[in-house]
Amino acid sequence: MVRTFQLFLLGLALAGGVFFLLRSQHHRPARALTQHPDATVRRLAPLYPRFEETDWSFRHPEEVPQTLEAFRAQRTPLTDRKAHSFYIQPIGRFGKDQQQLLTDTATLLEHWFGSPVKTLPPIALESLPASARRGAQLLTGVLLNQVLLPQRPADAIAVLGVTTADLTPGEGWNFVFGQASLVNRVGVWSLARLIDPNGDLARTRLRFFKLATHETGHMYGMEHCLIARCGMNGCNSIMETDHAPLAFCPECAAKLWHATGLRPTAWFSELEAFARAQNLKSEATLWRRSREVLPQ
Ligand SMILES: [Zn+2]
Ligand SMILES: [Zn+2]
Repeated sequence: MVRTFQLFLLGLALAGGVFFLLRSQHHRPARALTQHPDATVRRLAPLYPRFEETDWSFRHPEEVPQTLEAFRAQRTPLTDRKAHSFYIQPIGRFGKDQQQLLTDTATLLEHWFGSPVKTLPPIALESLPASARRGAQLLTGVLLNQVLLPQRPADAIAVLGVTTADLTPGEGWNFVFGQASLVNRVGVWSLARLIDPNGDLARTRLRFFKLATHETGHMYGMEHCLIARCGMNGCNSIMETDHAPLAFCPECAAKLWHATGLRPTAWFSELEAFARAQNLKSEATLWRRSREVLPQ
């Protein structure tokens, strides 16, 4: 079965009052990071805020936390030894700021997942099959299966299509921010609804960094995080995305280190340097402190 992750479902249907009423009644069993069986996770735990219920988590009360032990026991979809690079595939036209955003995102993904990220020559909107269009929107299924998958390079860990056009999976959906196929290792994301209407480039950039690391995390077999405030928390809206942190919590980071073989202290150093270069002050501080609490 092809597992797809539908991202950021449309809209907030719960009124605020109902939200807070439910919030106080809702309890999800989760162990504390401070009592985690993994020593590295325990050391990092005090630096990371506890999980907060979100609109997404209210709508998915059946979800159980994916533990580090369960993650380690599963086969990740990225065990193909020939696969060693990520590819970003621009679809359509990108302005100067948007191109810079793609370059910065490629750099972040290199540090975050420890693999080279290569950018492919853009695919013009005019060259897409007519079946890829629904009005002004592009259909995710056609992009994934008929455009990205047939052209996936042999050494690709995953191909990440990026477009400024709005996306929809089709009938019954207004839009999605993106969609990915774990099995086929292709994903597509749209910048269209991430761009801040007031021209706040820093906000747009942070949103894209969050989306790119979160969705690539899914490609590594990571599920939504229910143990801490974390970049892998499920989000239902752009408001929740803005509220969610970029940083992965210690348990999700430990899954990533397991999947990639990255060393925690080196990983935090690289992320800290990236955050400084991007003027992400709170992230730089968090990653510096995270590095400092670990044995050097
Ligand atoms: Zn997700
Ligand atoms: Zn997490």
